[in-house]
Amino acid sequence: MLAGSHNSSLVLISLLVAILASYTALDMAGRIATAQGRAAHWWLAGGACAMGIGIWSMHFIAMLAFHLPIPLGYDLPITAVSLLIAIASSALALWLVGRETLPWRRLAGGALLIGAGIAGMHYTGMAALQMSPGIRYIPSLFILSIVVAVLASGTALWIAFNLRRESIWVRPLRAGAAVIMGVAIVGMHYTGMAAAEFPLGSICGAARDGMDTGWLAVVIIVVTLAVLAIALITSVLDVRMEARTAMLALSLAEANQELTYLALHDNLTKLPNRVLLEDRLDRAIQEAAQKNTRFALMFMDLDGFKAVNDAYGHPVGDQLLVEVARRIVATVRAQDTIARLGGDEFVLLASVGEPEDAATLAEKVLTAIREPFQVTGRELRVSTSIGIAMYPGDGTLQHDLLTNADAAMYHAKALGRNTICFFEASMNANVHEQLQLVQDLRLALERGELILQYQPKLTAPSGPVVGVEALVRWVHPTRGLIAPDQFIPQAEKTGLIVPMGNWILDEACRQMREWRDAGHPHWTVAVNLSALQFRHASLIKTVRDTLARHALEPGCLTLEVTESTAMRDADASLQILKQLHDMGVRISIDDFGTGYSSLLYLKRLPASELKIDRGFIRDLTRDTEDAAIVSAIVALGRTLNLDIVAEGVETAKQQDFLTRLGCDSLQGFLLGRPMSAEMLIASLSGDDKLADAA
Ligand code: C2E
Ligand code: CA
Ligand code: CA
Repeated sequence: MLAGSHNSSLVLISLLVAILASYTALDMAGRIATAQGRAAHWWLAGGACAMGIGIWSMHFIAMLAFHLPIPLGYDLPITAVSLLIAIASSALALWLVGRETLPWRRLAGGALLIGAGIAGMHYTGMAALQMSPGIRYIPSLFILSIVVAVLASGTALWIAFNLRRESIWVRPLRAGAAVIMGVAIVGMHYTGMAAAEFPLGSICGAARDGMDTGWLAVVIIVVTLAVLAIALITSVLDVRMEARTAMLALSLAEANQELTYLALHDNLTKLPNRVLLEDRLDRAIQEAAQKNTRFALMFMDLDGFKAVNDAYGHPVGDQLLVEVARRIVATVRAQDTIARLGGDEFVLLASVGEPEDAATLAEKVLTAIREPFQVTGRELRVSTSIGIAMYPGDGTLQHDLLTNADAAMYHAKALGRNTICFFEASMNANVHEQLQLVQDLRLALERGELILQYQPKLTAPSGPVVGVEALVRWVHPTRGLIAPDQFIPQAEKTGLIVPMGNWILDEACRQMREWRDAGHPHWTVAVNLSALQFRHASLIKTVRDTLARHALEPGCLTLEVTESTAMRDADASLQILKQLHDMGVRISIDDFGTGYSSLLYLKRLPASELKIDRGFIRDLTRDTEDAAIVSAIVALGRTLNLDIVAEGVETAKQQDFLTRLGCDSLQGFLLGRPMSAEMLIASLSGDDKLADAA
């Protein structure tokens, strides 16, 4: 046999190349696993080439390290075939690793195929020597080399599959795995070489003259290293780019989520908005229809919110809304939807089966909201009016349920606020009635359907009469007498209140003239001004002209402005009130105590009178808090030199109590209902006392 020997530095280089090729292969496997679409194919092709070239050049460098005492050479086409086999095996290996799963059977099959491929490459490469006589292989070592190739391939596949995903440990683990794989591949090669026996007298058919194998080794090493380095660098750069793309995609997804959130939620309170509510309501309807269950839809509107806004401005109002939302959320259950429709309107979609449960839940909300709020250091009080519609009894369509809950809410408001009200079919009739009413209202003034009633205002406790409050009534041709609460809000909305208010002022003054002439020179007549009238540019001129027309001194006219109207845009209000005051007209702050006047502002207010809101009088004799408020208002009036009037006096107890608290004048059903001018005169006794009020 010819004695073969190996050049030890080339052997070492072949081992390094094997390790590097293994590392590259593992890295490529990771790329293929995480890359998407087309890119995965490119990585597979490029990776297979890099890995194939790597394994093959390891083999070829090892061959170049091999020396026989005869000249050696390699047949080019056969060598090329061995390279192709290496690339094909690599492609198969990378493809397997890139699969979602790697079951044992596929791993075993893959190991066999790839092992066979590597062995095939090796022995094809050996065949490129074109020895004659042929190389003899020792069967045991030959088989061992193939077993090593298969085992090495199996191990490599398994490791590569498990190290495909990026993580912090993947690089050191890959490096370790690459060493094992490199050693295994080299082991296979040298086992194969050990199996080879070259009979004495063999000649190498591919030997070429003057072909410097050392030079060839350098070229192959450089080319291989370059290929592997390019593959690795590209891979690293691609990982970075992928990471950046992933980050961009993530922030895009986040932005998208944020946008969706914004589109479906109220900016201020973060509650669902109308869009989301309608969606949930649709689902609730579908579900209830399928399962034959019921649910409740509640419309909630805050009472007294406008006063807060007017007094403290929108930032405080907004903060209050946020707090209100928080309380409602804390009161309802997680499966209920509470949405804000804008302003101070909230809607609750509650999965309750029975109206009683709905009522209990609504009561809970009512109680929660009634508690005072602390907002920016102030104590604020509001209440809620809640209208409830039940599915399916009060409607099976989204629109019907919403409209009916809304109608019920308006009813709750009309019932005196801070209360709940279930929908009833008659409420809807009201909506149509209201529309008709607005149309009739336009004609009411021309047709002379409005009249004024007068309610006496008495010196506490029982007279004499110091003046009257003019209260408008509408004598409707078919519906009879309609109270102002039923049409003043509509008149406000449509602007009709301005001509209507002018008529009321004129009529009240005309009546006043009549009374003066009839011998009541000390009376004053009070006329209510709505917010729109109060703000109207022509107010001052109208008042002046009207007084002049009836030859009245301004001092016998009192204009009643509600506290919240006076507080809205405080500086502008102050200007208007000043002009009226300078003219000599008396100003009365109506419904006092429901708004949030600041003391500072009150001090500057050129008012003559504070009218305590009816709400405080109602339970006065039972509610100590109300009594405290009334006596505080009286004290305030004293300090600011204002007359204090209590309205809504219905019982002798209240009359007595208010007198003792120090109210200057009283007004209420006990002392005299609103009545016609003739009735008023008729009910007077000689000393301007009311006949039945004494
Ligand atoms: P307001 O200015 O607070 O008027 C007092 C209301 O209380 C009147 O209701 C009066 O009838 C009622 N009232 C008087 N004494 C008692 C009592 O002892 N118990 C109870 N429960 N109520 C009593 P009315 O006439 O229905 O007016 C309601 C509101 O409509 C008025 O509240 C006022 O804001 C508005 N209003 C009435 N007339 C006019 C008007 O001519 N112009 C404008 N702009 N608004 C008016
Ligand atoms: Ca009034
Ligand atoms: Ca009032």
